[in-house]
Formats: sequence, structure tokens, C-alpha cells
Amino acid sequence: MAPFCALLIGGALLGTPARAEWANKEGSTVKGPTIDEYLNQVGPDGKLVKHGALKIDGKSVSCGKRPTVINPNFDSWGGAFPGFVILNTKKISGLSTPVKLYVYSHECGHQFIGADETAADCFAIRRGVRYGWLDALGLEDICTFISTLKGDAVHPPGPVRCEAMRKCYANAVQGSSRHTTGPANKAQTLGPSN
Ligand SMILES: [Zn+2]
Repeated sequence: MAPFCALLIGGALLGTPARAEWANKEGSTVKGPTIDEYLNQVGPDGKLVKHGALKIDGKSVSCGKRPTVINPNFDSWGGAFPGFVILNTKKISGLSTPVKLYVYSHECGHQFIGADETAADCFAIRRGVRYGWLDALGLEDICTFISTLKGDAVHPPGPVRCEAMRKCYANAVQGSSRHTTGPANKAQTLGPSN
């Protein structure tokens, strides 16, 4: 485990103490190993899932064209390096579907918006509303999950993140009811499509 952790604590996170939270285990979003280098680090338990092939609880998910590395030994639920997302399918297995999708989407968010944790959270929430996998109950699940995390140099405390996500959710729901496009609204059409 030691060399593995050393790899992840490099780059932008240099100097931050290793902690048990999600936090420092995510990896840097500005520099990092190539997928092959990372797979080598992970060893035989690692698995590369190509863009378009990943399913979470039967739901297809994607992050642009980026693949996902499944790492059951990863210290956190998920992580991100430039160009790929890391998912610990073992660690997320006990979570509810919206929380799993939130974890994946948060890490995907880092690919688009950079290191900002609050922005990555909001990215995930907006996605959930747009793609129709997030409702008020799912948001409560996410808040329950996140509220146990203490926070660190880059992550606000869990309850603060929850409050910020509630605001993102309210804005996203408002936005999607104003604009009548997108998969979430398509599901509400009256007639059968075939
Ligand atoms: Zn993050």
C-alpha cells in the first residue's frame, strides 16, 4: 500500500497530511500517471473499463470519452487523475444507487471543472437532475453519506457540502422545469414512443 499512497499524495496534494476522508485519496486533477502506469501500480486487482461500458447498478454512465479504472483496493470511494476516473466498486457497494452515481459524477466533475470540490459536488448534482437519477430522496442519501466526512484543506466539512448541494439541487430542479428539454423531461411524455 505504501508506494501506492505515495503516488497519489504527489503533485498538487504534496504537503497535505494523509487522512481517512475522501479528500487526499482522490489524486491530482492536474497531473498524474497514465492509465497504463496507474494499472501497473494497482496490480492484478485493477480493471480498465472503456468509455461507454461502465454500469452502476445497471445504469450506463460515462464521463465524456474517459475510461474508468476499477480499483477495489483504493482507499477512497472514487478518485480522478487527468484523463480517467477511479472507482472502488467494493467500497461503494453498500451505498444506495444515487450515492454511487454521485461519487462517480463528482470524480467526473473534476475532469471538467478542475480541483474545486464544491464545484465538483455541484456538477454531480446538476448531472443527476439532468439525467433523471437524482430526486429529493436521493439528495437526502447523499447528504447522509457526505455529512459523516470531516473535511480537510481542500474539502469543506460534510454538512457544509450537503448544504451547498441542496442549493445546487434547488437551482437545477428550477432550471430543468423552465427548459423542457433533456432526458428527465422526456420520460414524462404522455404517449408511447413506439
Ligand atoms: Zn473531489
